[in-house]
Amino acid sequence: MAEQKNADSREVSMEKITSLAKRRGFVFQSSEIYGGQAGAWDYGPLGIELKNRIQRFWWKEMTQLHDDIVGLDAAILMHPKVWEASGHVSNFTDPLVDCKKCKSRFRADLIDEKKLAAKTCPECGGELTDTRKFNLMFKTNIGPVDDGSGQIYLRPETAQGIYVNYKNIVQSNRMKIPFGIAQVGKAFRNEIVTKNFIFRTCEFEQMEMQYFVKPGDDEKFFEYWRDQRWKYFEKLGVRMDKLRWHQHGKDELAHYAKDAYDIEYEFPMGWKELEGVHNRTDFDLKRHQEVSGKDMQYIDQDNGNERYVPYIVETSAGLTRQMLMILCDAYDEEKVADKGNDDDWRTVMRFHPALAPITVAVLPLMKKDGLAELAQDIRASLKEDYATDYDQAGAIGRRYRRQDEAGTPFCVTVDYDSKEDGTVTVRERDSMEQKRVHKDELLSYIRDRIKNYKRA
Ligand code: ATP
Repeated sequence: MAEQKNADSREVSMEKITSLAKRRGFVFQSSEIYGGQAGAWDYGPLGIELKNRIQRFWWKEMTQLHDDIVGLDAAILMHPKVWEASGHVSNFTDPLVDCKKCKSRFRADLIDEKKLAAKTCPECGGELTDTRKFNLMFKTNIGPVDDGSGQIYLRPETAQGIYVNYKNIVQSNRMKIPFGIAQVGKAFRNEIVTKNFIFRTCEFEQMEMQYFVKPGDDEKFFEYWRDQRWKYFEKLGVRMDKLRWHQHGKDELAHYAKDAYDIEYEFPMGWKELEGVHNRTDFDLKRHQEVSGKDMQYIDQDNGNERYVPYIVETSAGLTRQMLMILCDAYDEEKVADKGNDDDWRTVMRFHPALAPITVAVLPLMKKDGLAELAQDIRASLKEDYATDYDQAGAIGRRYRRQDEAGTPFCVTVDYDSKEDGTVTVRERDSMEQKRVHKDELLSYIRDRIKNYKRA
């Protein structure tokens, strides 16, 4: 890890993360047998478990633990006027330049200023084109006729689905301001720079919560949500010295935003945005009111039917980007022996046990003498509560290493004593400590260990 420069640990790199993700079935390149599809990735058996758990963790945090937040799942395909009202049709652009010689394409804001001014390609030294604006929305057609009349967009963010449903939710669920609406879903952006694995992709998932407040209360709730989002990462068990706030300067701030902060994480390629907390004012609802002609005012029945268009405080996170952060944060290489070969090191994914794709692996010491059957019975007794795995292949040390790489927090080993007295060995991933526990107490033992988990 970057901050542990002692001889007992090695550095994490994007190559190592990508390679482990593929090797262990977290993330595969999309359409790999055809050479891969840029900007798209597939989530394998361990990856989908991890992604689902992060999503559930966020969802619980937002809805179950906040009485005033409800959920929504809006469609990806929305009326094209939504994107006119939101400003995406005219403003959702990146500045692009192309190299006339090697044909490479760059985001003008990401290349060296001197090279841009001199119109010199950073790759081959060839001549660059003028900077032009490139809209990031994917277009497609709906309906049987392909004459442009059915042109719609794949949504580039989930937030607009929340804004256009805000009145429905106030009415159907009798929500009173302040309240929030949470949503998780796919978003699509025609990103030109898609390196760094799943950090920036064309198809990704967002976890957004839009909080509706009375104008004037916005600054108070903006601070409240900054604080809440920081605490969320503490709960996730992330190393907090790898996180920092970045306040948008005047040049970065969207024209409608009053204030905006990003939470950044120190990825192997440097400090990068993880999620944003934005004070969006009443811009979005006013624009939808203007373009749709529908009244977007909230009627405050508790205060003499006072009417106003609410302000919105947004917390906008990338689910897939958060998963990359969790992979980077969990990755560790630890020296466990001193024999002078690669076996001295173990690769261990130190996921919070609530996020780990497999919670418990059950390993019979031997396949014979009824140990495999007993191990299968023990696995069956844990299945209802935990994601389990079963492995009887190879030496026990190798099996522990395989589970370490998958980030499995508990291995339960079944041996000859287990047959006699019903006890098993629970081996913990992080400390590698082993403890004898009766099989009937496994469920509560594991539950307590998860609840009290603290990353060393
Ligand atoms: P950037 O400036 O990096 O393009 P952004 O500021 O436009 O990102 P937002 O529109 O605020 O990003 O999106 C909110 C969150 O969605 C981001 O913090 C990030 O976690 C995630 N996100 C945005 N674009 C992508 C992408 N192309 N791939 C993966 N995640 C993304």
